[in-house]
Amino acid sequence: MSDLPQRLSLREVGPRDGLQNEAPVATAAKVALIDALSGTGVGRIEAVSFVHPRAIPQMSDAAQVWSSVRRDPGVRYSALVPNLTGAERALEAGFRELEVVVSASDTHNRTNVNRSTGESLDDIAVILERVHAAGGTCQVIVATAWGCPYEGEVALERVIGVARRAVSDGADGLSYGDTTGMATPSRVTRLVGETRAALPDTGLNLHFHNTRGTGLANVLAALELGVSDFDASVGGLGGCPYAPGASGNIATEELVHMVEDMGVATGIDLEAMIEAAAQAERIVGRTLPSQVLRAGPRTRTVA
Ligand code: ZN
Repeated sequence: MSDLPQRLSLREVGPRDGLQNEAPVATAAKVALIDALSGTGVGRIEAVSFVHPRAIPQMSDAAQVWSSVRRDPGVRYSALVPNLTGAERALEAGFRELEVVVSASDTHNRTNVNRSTGESLDDIAVILERVHAAGGTCQVIVATAWGCPYEGEVALERVIGVARRAVSDGADGLSYGDTTGMATPSRVTRLVGETRAALPDTGLNLHFHNTRGTGLANVLAALELGVSDFDASVGGLGGCPYAPGASGNIATEELVHMVEDMGVATGIDLEAMIEAAAQAERIVGRTLPSQVLRAGPRTRTVA
C-alpha cells in the first residue's frame, strides 16, 4: 500500500446533510447534537443550510440553531447555501465559511434548483464575489460527480469542466459528492487523478455515500492518492427512509475506526463519536446504518 496521509481533516455533515434528509427534529435536539459533535475532536462541522423553508422545512430554524450552539474554538463551522439569498442569510447569521452546490448533471441540477448547470455556475460566480467581499470563504460542491440517478453516467470531462469553471471564478476549494453512491474505487482513482492534473493547486474534499456498500473502499482509494479531506455523517445519518436514492452518507465513526487503525490520525475520540451516533439515533427515532455503532470498536471485548 502506498503512503497514506498522516492526518485527515474530516467534516461532520450529520447536522446538515443528515438531518435535512430525516423527518424534522426539534431545534434543541439539533443544538445538542452539534454540541456533542463539537466535543469529539472533529475539526469541521457543516452545521446548517440556508435553504428556502418551503423547500426544506427541516432547516427552517438554521439561524436559531446557529445562535444556540456552543462554538468550540477548535472547530470550523460551515453552512451550505443553494443560492445568493441563502448566502446572504448565512453571512447575516455570522457564518464566514460557506459551501454552495452545483450538480455536474443538468437534469439533477434542474431537479434541485430549476436551473441548468451552466446557469448555476453563473450564479455561483456572483455568490463567490459576495462571500469574498464579506471576508468569507466558499467551497464549491460538485454533486453527482460519479453519476446521476436520472442521467446515469456523468462524463469525467464534464465534472472537470464544472470544477475548472468554479475555480476560475474564485472557489476556495472543491468538494466532489457521490450523491447517490455510484462511485467505485477505480472511478475515484480516475476522477481524483484527472482533477489533480487539471487543478493541482486546488484543495479537494470528497463526500461519499454508502448506498451500494462502496463508501469506505472509495475513501481508501482516495487516501492512496493522498486526499486528506472527507465528509462523513455521524451514525450514517441521512438517507430518508421514504425517499429512495437520496440515501447513505458514510458513517463518521466507521471511517475513524478504519483509518485510525491504519495509522492515519483524525483527531477524533472514537468512543465520543459513537456516543454522538447513539444520540443521533435517539433524536431521529430509527436505527441508523452505522455498523461500528452496533458492534463497537474492534478493541471492545465482551464484558
Ligand atoms: Zn451526503
